[in-house]
Amino acid sequence: ATMPPLLAAIANAGRHGVLVKSAVAMERIGAATVVAFDKTGTLTEGAPHLAEVRPLPGSGLSEQDLLALAAAAERSSEHPLARAVVAAAREAGLPLAEATEFASFPGRGVRARVAGRLVEVGRPAADDRTGVPAGAPGATPAGAPSADSAGAVAGELEEHGMTAVVVRVDGRPAGVLGLSDRLRPEAARATRRLAGLTGTPPVLLTGDNPRAAARTAAQAGIADVRAGLLPEDKVAAVRALEESGHKVLVVGDGVNDAPALAAAHAGLAMGRAGSDLALETADAVIVRDDLATVPAVVALSRRARRLVT
Ligand code: ADP
Ligand code: MG
Repeated sequence: ATMPPLLAAIANAGRHGVLVKSAVAMERIGAATVVAFDKTGTLTEGAPHLAEVRPLPGSGLSEQDLLALAAAAERSSEHPLARAVVAAAREAGLPLAEATEFASFPGRGVRARVAGRLVEVGRPAADDRTGVPAGAPGATPAGAPSADSAGAVAGELEEHGMTAVVVRVDGRPAGVLGLSDRLRPEAARATRRLAGLTGTPPVLLTGDNPRAAARTAAQAGIADVRAGLLPEDKVAAVRALEESGHKVLVVGDGVNDAPALAAAHAGLAMGRAGSDLALETADAVIVRDDLATVPAVVALSRRARRLVT
């Protein structure tokens, strides 16, 4: 017997390095009219490096203290930013203290107790907090010099295209870390091919700050950028596109992407560094760590769909 076209396409996709989970999944991928990419770990290599360590004046912390505390809090997180912080601390020969009460908030950051102190590491919020939900007692002392505030330092690092994360200790801003990540070399070519295949240029949905997002998008040839999104905002963005008549293919890697992968018409997860939750939720997993596989699998699915109907 000859193999049904969608099954043949699955076998072909496997040879290209994409594991498609079912014939239905294969069919959905080719129906996409627009592709929505995550940024960190998807369009970028997902191996950011720590570029800046900035303790705030008055925090009483040295650069090494700040990095050691942040790394201890991040050691149980699988987020690419967390891995970069831990790797930098190890390279600097800093001891990694035990952390307890670890809690992770997808798209926001982490919280843990380190040597008796409550440490939060996460996205900068306008009020010098982290994006980590309340839990830390205390607030920024009134009258702290604004030029030294975490938000101002974060803004300066973001101006340079970095991802800034704020570190709070016992509820007070203690410092800011700046991280840089490289665009995948094949990203621009993949987005161009996808625009041709689907008829619509891809969009970028990211939890990162607007400046870092704009820089990555420009390099990747993406004009439509939505930044500062929480996981639920990524879902809302996907739903809005679908309500406007699109069928969306989401490509992502993180726990923060799982709800959007589930909400979309189809979802693709990055396999190498992808979180278990993203891999389980997606219709297909990119096993060969290369974005050229995305237009390849879309093209295979479209060809198979033409043969089926
Ligand atoms: P993206 O959508 O680009 O993959 P995420 O949604 O995973 O980004 O994260 C959004 C923002 O939340 C990050 O830019 C960072 O500020 C913060 N964040 C998320 N997880 C962590 C973490 N483990 N440590 C520090 N900051 C984090
Ligand atoms: Mg990501």
